Amino acid sequence: MTGPDASTLAHIRGRSAKIIATLGPGSAAPDTIYLLAKAGVDIFRLNFSHGSHEDHKQIFDRIREVERRFRRPLAILADLQGPKIRVGTFPEGKIRLSFHGEYVLTAEKHAESEHEIPVPHPEILNVLDVGDEILLNDGQLLLRVLELGERPKVRAELPGILSDKKGFTVRGKALPVGAMTDKDREDLAFAMQLGVDMVALSFVQTVADIETAKALMPHRVPLIAKLEKPAAITHLEAIVDAADAVMVARGDLGVEFPSEQVPIIQRRIIRAARRVGRPVIVATQMLESMIEHAAPTRAETSDVATAIYQGADGVMLSAETAVGRHPATAVAIMDRIIKATERADDFAASMQQFQGQDAARDEGIVDVVARSVHGLARQHGTKSIAMRTGSFQRLARFSRVRGPVPVLYGSINPDRLRQAQLLWGVHPIAFEVDNASDWAEYLAHQAGLDGSVAYARWAGEGNRFAWEIGANAYEMSED
Ligand code: PEP
Repeated sequence: MTGPDASTLAHIRGRSAKIIATLGPGSAAPDTIYLLAKAGVDIFRLNFSHGSHEDHKQIFDRIREVERRFRRPLAILADLQGPKIRVGTFPEGKIRLSFHGEYVLTAEKHAESEHEIPVPHPEILNVLDVGDEILLNDGQLLLRVLELGERPKVRAELPGILSDKKGFTVRGKALPVGAMTDKDREDLAFAMQLGVDMVALSFVQTVADIETAKALMPHRVPLIAKLEKPAAITHLEAIVDAADAVMVARGDLGVEFPSEQVPIIQRRIIRAARRVGRPVIVATQMLESMIEHAAPTRAETSDVATAIYQGADGVMLSAETAVGRHPATAVAIMDRIIKATERADDFAASMQQFQGQDAARDEGIVDVVARSVHGLARQHGTKSIAMRTGSFQRLARFSRVRGPVPVLYGSINPDRLRQAQLLWGVHPIAFEVDNASDWAEYLAHQAGLDGSVAYARWAGEGNRFAWEIGANAYEMSED
């Protein structure tokens, strides 16, 4: 990444929450990626449930190229498929399941006829029982098991179109699958070699799943635990603690739990994550109708606003941008909803209220410093807070305060700048030189926020602990 250029970087995005967008066949062209970045994407998601390594590499290179043109850090997230069971493929790419139609499950990768549903996991077919309910395509289709055998017979209870590689879940049944599949290990090694900025781990159930993935990373990048299994909710606090960030993966969460539980679990996860300062992303079906239509429903708009009011660090688009007909419009609309919500009169109060009494728990010195700097900014009416640190975790503690003043994060390290895109209210800006004495003013100027600025810099060395904090607020008295 080259340094910022005042003509193109004389502003920061006018919002605190971040937008994550999934790239796919509908949005992988270089010009579309550029339009998406311009419309508001901060993090691009590569979904390793689909596409080959060559496809991901090509898209990765295009995003990095767009980042150079755009002159602002754009992060790339590799989302690993995890032990999600998926059906195989069909001769025509899909079949129509008719109401009460009967089908057979086969252990093959590919169906030979429209009466077969391939499930290339023989170990799964072996644990089925008569009467089991099988949910397909994130719960949109339902089958009931009628007969067991080498090719179990099933009946469609909820009909519809079943296309290649859709998800397959047996409701309420623990399936014999490990935390990371061989494919996940290969994909993780590939993604790390490619140089992605963050990794998401699907179907996390235990802290050990997170430790396994961390141990497989040759260098550390933020690891996002996707919370979608009942076991993850049971061990919520421990998992939130062990991960660098979490995602409310509502697609699979809504398959594993009745859908009316999803909003309740979303609130629980956001609260648990904010309490300990882990970034949290709310994902799936946020603007679902925009896969087809050029405008969202009122309910979808309200869903995005709710996540923002709850203090989510990021909101994510999946099919809307991966295969939808209006990817850039979906991003632009999400951007508008976030901005409108953050400008609402009751937004600041909501930020503090949702955090509630919990915020005071688990506080460390960095939290005291973060609060002090936010307090200094408020006291002296500074327009921004400038921040330098080599640590993503420390930066996350500044974001956790959810103060009204933007945190400008300066670094010469492009990887750190991109990782900072995960954090609410943090705006990464590249330094051209590392040791300028007026670094805080420089960041404020680059952000288009010339004037008074509060600042904080970790200045510890070895076992010497030190923070430098202050403000250059003009006409400021010393007390
Ligand atoms: C989800 O299930 O909500 C999710 C984000 O995961 P994926 O899109 O990989 O199914």
